[in-house]
Amino acid sequence: MSTFSNYDFKGKKVLVRVDFNVPLDKLYNITDDNRMRATIPTIQKILNDGGSVILMSHLGRPKGGPEDKYSLRHLVKHLYELLGSNTHVFFADDCIGEQAYLTSSMMKGGEVLLLENLRFYKEEEAGDEAFAQKLSKLGDVYVNDAFGTAHRAHASTAVIAQFFEPGKKMFGLLMEAEVTNAEKVMHNAEKPFTAIMGGAKVSDKILLIENLLSRADNIIIGGGMAYTFWKAQGKIVGNSLVEEDRLPLALTLLEKAKAKGVKIYLPMDSTIADQFSNDATTTNSESYGIPSGWMGLDIGKKAIADFTEVIMKSRTIIWNGPMGVFEMAKFQAGTKAIAEAVAAATAKGAFSLVGGGDSVAAVNLFGLADQVSYVSTGGGALLEYFEGKVLPGIAAIKD
Ligand code: AMP
Repeated sequence: MSTFSNYDFKGKKVLVRVDFNVPLDKLYNITDDNRMRATIPTIQKILNDGGSVILMSHLGRPKGGPEDKYSLRHLVKHLYELLGSNTHVFFADDCIGEQAYLTSSMMKGGEVLLLENLRFYKEEEAGDEAFAQKLSKLGDVYVNDAFGTAHRAHASTAVIAQFFEPGKKMFGLLMEAEVTNAEKVMHNAEKPFTAIMGGAKVSDKILLIENLLSRADNIIIGGGMAYTFWKAQGKIVGNSLVEEDRLPLALTLLEKAKAKGVKIYLPMDSTIADQFSNDATTTNSESYGIPSGWMGLDIGKKAIADFTEVIMKSRTIIWNGPMGVFEMAKFQAGTKAIAEAVAAATAKGAFSLVGGGDSVAAVNLFGLADQVSYVSTGGGALLEYFEGKVLPGIAAIKD
């Protein structure tokens, strides 16, 4: 059993860093509450034990001072609903203001206090020690459940941990699950291990691909980034997305993969379009011979079949980035088919982890999120973990 699960929070004031950085529409309705939902089991466990919970989070990118559009006040009602309406939810409009300390000192077990946006203080992102110490005074125990910000050395995500004794700082249930699943893939992957990479740019994924070259057996490359790899080999890709300045690098990655015996799979065919639009005229083409005036916006039928075959033989799968411009219905088929293949391989016993904003959006869109082994809540944090970096939010608790 983990530290968190074993801990008895009765009578404790528990300061929990959560990632409530949810998207809001113009009327402040939450358009995707997954990040809030994901941390509810952590909060419930503390409340059920008889502890009180002081929640701290950031929301959006305020410029270092209060801005109503980034106020966490907009989340109070929904938090109250998610917790089941018997829980008292208080709000403090300054995360280190007098009202926050007073409320925290008077809270009874089973109550929740949500603090105003941490990033209304520039000290949060600066990792300011004095600010972290002020926050630390709000609780007896510190729980980090914000995997989405674990790659940041901010005051509330990492620096604050030094103000709590060992045994009084720990991961929450979400963070534990994220770390366990990410570690399983990086250090205990059952073979064959296949990484599926997609999305727009090679430049965002270089470190990731390099690190995976030492771990994966197969790397499937789809999405816009595939055309840089084709062009690097002297192929004609029409008007497809290409990062000209990354052509030498793409070639180096292909050579390194060959030397290490890692198989790289590029899409042999594509759905090509005469414009970047859902109204475009489309046809199928070999990906390595796309006529001028046309661009590859999705992987084609042959690529789907090739990729599916590799995925179905895999025992460990990670997936980051869509296979095409899946936001447009005309270019969704590739991403959908790959999501289905990952789900089918999972049903056969493979371990699959989907992470990174757009692939998570894709499995949700196709209703397959519950048919993969784990859907990560951490975009940037997960990428940095897979790049082999030490995440400050994890190190602060573990070290
Ligand atoms: P990323 O954030 O790098 O994972 O990229 C995700 C974005 O890549 C999505 O918005 C997709 O529409 C886009 N994308 C995927 N395939 C292509 C493609 N063939 N051409 C242009 N953009 C693409």
